[in-house]
Amino acid sequence: MSLTNLEDVFLDVLKDTLDAEKQILKALPKMAKGTVSEELKAAFTEHKAVTEKQVERLESVFKSINKAARGKHCPGMEGLLEEGSELIKEEEAGPALDAALICAAQKVEHYEIAAYGSLVTYAKMLGLKDAAKLLAETLKEEKDTDLALTKVAAKLNFEAQEED
Ligand code: FE
Ligand code: FE
Repeated sequence: MSLTNLEDVFLDVLKDTLDAEKQILKALPKMAKGTVSEELKAAFTEHKAVTEKQVERLESVFKSINKAARGKHCPGMEGLLEEGSELIKEEEAGPALDAALICAAQKVEHYEIAAYGSLVTYAKMLGLKDAAKLLAETLKEEKDTDLALTKVAAKLNFEAQEED
């Protein structure tokens, strides 16, 4: 038992999210390798660069509240990433796998949007202006990524539909 107040919840979600981002960093190159779509490969590769910045931003948030930037294992993200890696392991590369990979990737983004949305709210309520600003930047990036994936999906889903 360690959650007593909103500050505790903020720190707990922050630790979970740092771990989640680090897991994502490791998974993105594998996802980029698993797709035959140049667009999706580019989207995954670009999001890896964005994610590196997001980890740095989280470290700044920890620093701003004088806490060590230590993650706490995030089983939710492990499960979501496992869905993607199982697909790559078990399915043949091609449009259908790509369509499924986009869905898996969007589940990851939605997890992050939920986490950062809550973190921004907590930071604002706790009067942590700098932290709120940093977290809001990342929240926007995750939303933009989700939208970008939706656009790629429109094309790749159609290609998967054409396969027989
Ligand atoms: Fe992220
Ligand atoms: Fe993301």
